[in-house]
Amino acid sequence: MEKPSQHALAIAFLNAAGVFEDPVAAARWWAVARDGAPQAFQPDPESPKPRFDAGLAAEMRALHEAALEAAGTGGAASQSAMAVMSSGLARGSLRLAGAPPSLVFSASDGPGAVLFPLAHAVATLLCAGNDRLRRCASPTCAVYFWDGTKNGSRRWCRLSCMERVRAPGRRLQR
Ligand SMILES: [Zn+2]
Repeated sequence: MEKPSQHALAIAFLNAAGVFEDPVAAARWWAVARDGAPQAFQPDPESPKPRFDAGLAAEMRALHEAALEAAGTGGAASQSAMAVMSSGLARGSLRLAGAPPSLVFSASDGPGAVLFPLAHAVATLLCAGNDRLRRCASPTCAVYFWDGTKNGSRRWCRLSCMERVRAPGRRLQR
């Protein structure tokens, strides 16, 4: 199988429908998504810690909507959506730390500790080209995934989606 996508965090974010209505759900989602994306930036230890409240959840929701718009339009999102993503990028800064060096980020404030890495992940995904960003071909699924296959032929987000669609007698069901 292919290696975990470098875009794991951005993909998880695109697929997180309805999560950011509630700060507790948003906090749970963030803990799992961050663990599932080991290649995402690590925060500077001195960086402020996020507190998941209604304000942060609303900011995550706005960023999520902007990211979905950008993904759904092949990157040709409205100026306001682009501005939301760019303002997320302004919530932190990158620097080199350690030897050999790695990139760490410092958030400008608590919410920035979540919004900066998310905005950066989404921006990196969009700039990588939309031809590899796909939606599952299962009509009942349609989640986003990154096609990391050599020939760009992946159609399903996971094996069970392929099996469900190809199962005898269910082929015509849509
Ligand atoms: Zn699927």
